[in-house]
Amino acid sequence: MKGIFEKIIDRELEADIVYEDGLAIAFKDINPVAPKHFLVIPKKKIRNIQTVSSNDSHLFTHLFTVIQKLAIQENMVEEGYRVITNIGEYGGQTVDYLHFHIIGGRTMRWPPG
Ligand code: 5GP
Repeated sequence: MKGIFEKIIDRELEADIVYEDGLAIAFKDINPVAPKHFLVIPKKKIRNIQTVSSNDSHLFTHLFTVIQKLAIQENMVEEGYRVITNIGEYGGQTVDYLHFHIIGGRTMRWPPG
């Protein structure tokens, strides 16, 4: 069965898409924790970074290029931003599909909760 993010990729579920190319897509988080909160995901289904294979190295380099482009596009570079990926239950992963949270627009706290 298709998950939420696969449905967003296939346009079966509405999302505010801010970037897309052949390998990746970025959209606004439905429940933002900061003034700017985007999710960057690969179009290829990968559960989380623990299940990434070395065959995906090109895709991974690409995802970080997408993050850079998104940060420029959304005017986040000068002030800075945070990139987070949660893995499994203790990591706080609620959607079983690899995603990078790109969060900005305010000062981030450390340590995270
Ligand atoms: P996680 O908790 O797995 O690290 O992050 C999942 C994120 O997906 C959450 O921040 C949540 O708000 C977001 N999310 C869940 N369902 C949807 C949805 O249907 N649309 C969008 N745009 N974001 C979603």
